[in-house]
Amino acid sequence: MAELKADVLVLGAGMVGVSAALHLQQRGRDVILVDKHELAGEETSFGNAGMVECASVFPYMFPRDFAQIVRYALNRSPQVRYRFSDLPDFLPWVVRYFLASSPDRALHSAMSELPLIRRSLIEHEALVAEADVPELLRRTGWLKLFRSDASLASAVRDFERAKQFGVAGEVLDQKAIAAREPNLTGQFAGAVYLPAPGFVPDPGALAKAYAALFKRKGGRFAVADARTLEQGAGGWRITGNDGAAVARDVVVALGPWSDLVFRPLGYRIPLGVKRGYHLHLAPRGNAVLHHPILDFDLGYMLAPMNRGIRLTTGVEFAHRDAPPTPIQLQRALPRARALFPLGEAIDANPWKGARPCLPDMLPVIGKAPRHAGLWFDFGHQHHGLTLGPVSGRLLAELMTGETPFADPTPYAAGRFG
Ligand SMILES: Cc1cc2nc3c(=O)[nH]c(=O)nc-3n(C[C@H](O)[C@H](O)[C@H](O)COP(=O)(O)OP(=O)(O)OC[C@H]3O[C@@H](n4cnc5c(N)ncnc54)[C@H](O)[C@@H]3O)c2cc1C
Repeated sequence: MAELKADVLVLGAGMVGVSAALHLQQRGRDVILVDKHELAGEETSFGNAGMVECASVFPYMFPRDFAQIVRYALNRSPQVRYRFSDLPDFLPWVVRYFLASSPDRALHSAMSELPLIRRSLIEHEALVAEADVPELLRRTGWLKLFRSDASLASAVRDFERAKQFGVAGEVLDQKAIAAREPNLTGQFAGAVYLPAPGFVPDPGALAKAYAALFKRKGGRFAVADARTLEQGAGGWRITGNDGAAVARDVVVALGPWSDLVFRPLGYRIPLGVKRGYHLHLAPRGNAVLHHPILDFDLGYMLAPMNRGIRLTTGVEFAHRDAPPTPIQLQRALPRARALFPLGEAIDANPWKGARPCLPDMLPVIGKAPRHAGLWFDFGHQHHGLTLGPVSGRLLAELMTGETPFADPTPYAAGRFG
């Protein structure tokens, strides 16, 4: 690129950045979307479980149950694992996460995120319609399976609480599970079926479809390293192999890599990561999986993606860039095979990604406190596919001086001091 000029540079073309670019464009801004890859949606937004979790009222907080914490500490839980050698790296963050998960603070996070969660599917539906890719958003809902009476009872309690916020669903017994998913094998205490959430059978393709829509409407895409960002007299400048791009405003939407830009600018925002893995497998024979399934007690998910059945794992605490250690995936594989008829692996190697998380499980959306024209949109934790479009709306409303549809205070970067 020679020197390109625009109103806004959006750094990061994952679901969050692409959605912000589209919402800014809808409001008349000339936007350049910047990524280190030539295509959008190649990182975390490619590898997730595909759920648009519009029924997930309560975010994933650190458990307060002592037995559960002991299981975590002993590295025996299928849902959460940690790399012992990286402990000094992530322990301070986990302590902040634990503190932010007290009942009061967890409720504050849930209520703060609720306006975004409630609008999440509506915003995807609007973009899916405009991008003309209805096949990329299915309305199957999802099924959470519980193997023990205790975990079912706890899930039913959560479901009863969620119902107070308008969440619909059903508690299923073994027979009702078999009616919904005839190919499952196993003894279940029960399941919770949530019909409302959307399912994206190819999350990377959805980000690419939104990016294609952005380009069709005149948006530009540039390949550059976000670490080249500089502030000068003309605004913010980014430099790539083919030249530079300059704009008055810049949005940091780099997901788990956002610290590469905010830290050199002097912001001490506690961005951590929860890593996860996936592997695609072919279904055996004519077996069909009708819904994404969470096998809660065994700590993995199966989702019927276009590429095959995607097995995704729970959380691994490890340094973002440490080599993969897909132990949870290896443990989950025989369990998943016992649950559903799975054949050969389709991928040569497991995919690894990192959920970008703040300790209070709320994203950072809004103006940077100390730099003119610098905006943040990152830290969408387990819900970045879900919340990308609705966060893009909120950010664009703030940037263009519209009345925001939700109170942005809980997402301000300033909450970390
Ligand atoms: C196993 C797993 C399962 C998940 N399941 C779900 C789910 O079912 N539903 C849900 O809502 N969420 C889910 N998530 C979370 C969700 O995937 C993330 O929150 C979301 O993808 C974050 O999007 P993003 O755009 O912020 O980040 P990313 O998609 O990672 O995008 C960041 C972009 O920044 C670019 N970039 C990085 N460094 C640079 C640089 N130096 N210069 C230029 N560009 C750079 C990257 O190339 C990338 O395109 C899951 C996550 C994991 C790991």
